[in-house]
Amino acid sequence: MTITPAPSEFRILIVGGGIAGLATAIALRGPNRRIQILEQSSLNREIGATISLQPNASKFVERSWNLGPHLRAKGSMIDRAFRICSTDGKEQKRVDLTAKSQYGGDRMLYHRQDLHDVLKNAATSTDGKGPAVEILVKSRVVSCDCEKNSVVLEDGKAMEGFDLIVAADGIRSRIRKSVVGEEVSPVRTGQAAYRMMIEAAKIEDDEDIRKFLDPREAVTTMVMGHNNRLIMGPARNGELFSIVAMVPDVSDPSTETSWTTEGNMEDLLEAFKEFPDWCKRLFRHAPELGLWQLRDLDSLSSWTRGKVILIGDAAHAMLPTQGQGASQAIEDAEAIGAFFEDVSGKPSELEVFSRLKLIEEARLPRARQIQLLSRQSAKPATDKGDKKIKISPDQYMDFCCTYNGAKAWREQQESANVAEKLGDLSI
Ligand SMILES: Cc1cc2nc3c(=O)[nH]c(=O)nc-3n(C[C@H](O)[C@H](O)[C@H](O)COP(=O)(O)OP(=O)(O)OC[C@H]3O[C@@H](n4cnc5c(N)ncnc54)[C@H](O)[C@@H]3O)c2cc1C
Repeated sequence: MTITPAPSEFRILIVGGGIAGLATAIALRGPNRRIQILEQSSLNREIGATISLQPNASKFVERSWNLGPHLRAKGSMIDRAFRICSTDGKEQKRVDLTAKSQYGGDRMLYHRQDLHDVLKNAATSTDGKGPAVEILVKSRVVSCDCEKNSVVLEDGKAMEGFDLIVAADGIRSRIRKSVVGEEVSPVRTGQAAYRMMIEAAKIEDDEDIRKFLDPREAVTTMVMGHNNRLIMGPARNGELFSIVAMVPDVSDPSTETSWTTEGNMEDLLEAFKEFPDWCKRLFRHAPELGLWQLRDLDSLSSWTRGKVILIGDAAHAMLPTQGQGASQAIEDAEAIGAFFEDVSGKPSELEVFSRLKLIEEARLPRARQIQLLSRQSAKPATDKGDKKIKISPDQYMDFCCTYNGAKAWREQQESANVAEKLGDLSI
């Protein structure tokens, strides 16, 4: 009797334990697969802010990976509508999100910490498919060799022998240069965003605020005036109310040290002085004020080299104006899971190269379009001094949210040229 040797392990290294890295680990889990994540931090530092996943991504997280019940237990909410208001407080448009059943998923509102925790638990739980994912924290990668499939950590330790390396190390990726062949620096977008998180109980009795919004209602309210805009909505079953306030970035590029700093309340109030008083009353309830300088990336020409692939913000960081950054990272994860689905043991080099090329073909042009649309949507919402809002948050929604996975998308693209349909957008 001939004994067939058990197929050897498929060894996968993921660099970065953010949304992209954790989601990819979940999508790749399976028998005979050893997945390790290297994360530079201690992984307990996800910031206190909300994050929305759009239907094109929430369908994978909530349903395909069956994380909906875990997220619901932490207070996830289905967003019911977008309200778009001008600086006189008048609602100019309302987009009913419950009427968008064609997307096959909901726009979900999560607390970032909750989404991160649920993804981490799903990756590391012994209940999932195949062996649990191993996360090595305080493990900072300083270089990657795409020919030898190896990485070197800050402490000098080298790790090698991987069949696949997924670089999910964020917008300031250390691995990007090895893949692309040149340094690609994040681009200053000229935009910054203050973030605030307020207990709903502190504002729901304020009648001036309540006239305009109910902080517990699952609705996203946007107030727009020329260069400034507010994006506000609830989190954790309405216990928390989140505000992102986008403003022109006035920081001095020569002196900046960190992109994430403490904001100044007086500067915030000055930036929004044309906005209704109830908005400024809201700001004053915020116990903390964070400030992000917003960066994105110009579209890369390639995401892969050898057995290494860039994903998430490392590959396609974008402005948050379409709320698609993390959603695109989830799409990357789904794509990697789908194209490696049939690999049951250690893959040959050719099997890995060919699949990575298919993933890039399926994902890169779509992510590039969404990077472009996110820049388009950052243009001033009104003419200076005017109240009429010229942009609509649902303008590109059908393009972004109509998505059923990378394989289906790739097939669809073979017969349709999306770029032509969207017109000539310049980045
Ligand atoms: C104001 C604002 C609002 C946003 N709102 C939304 C929204 O509502 N919806 C949405 O979809 N997106 C949103 N985004 C975008 C979203 O936050 C990002 O696109 C997403 O978090 C990217 O995930 P990532 O895992 O690719 O990168 P990151 O979150 O940056 O994770 C990278 C991880 O890699 C680790 N790492 C980095 N370098 C190394 C290294 N050398 N070695 C080891 N580990 C390393 C980091 O510590 C980190 O844990 C928003 C962004 C901003 C700025």
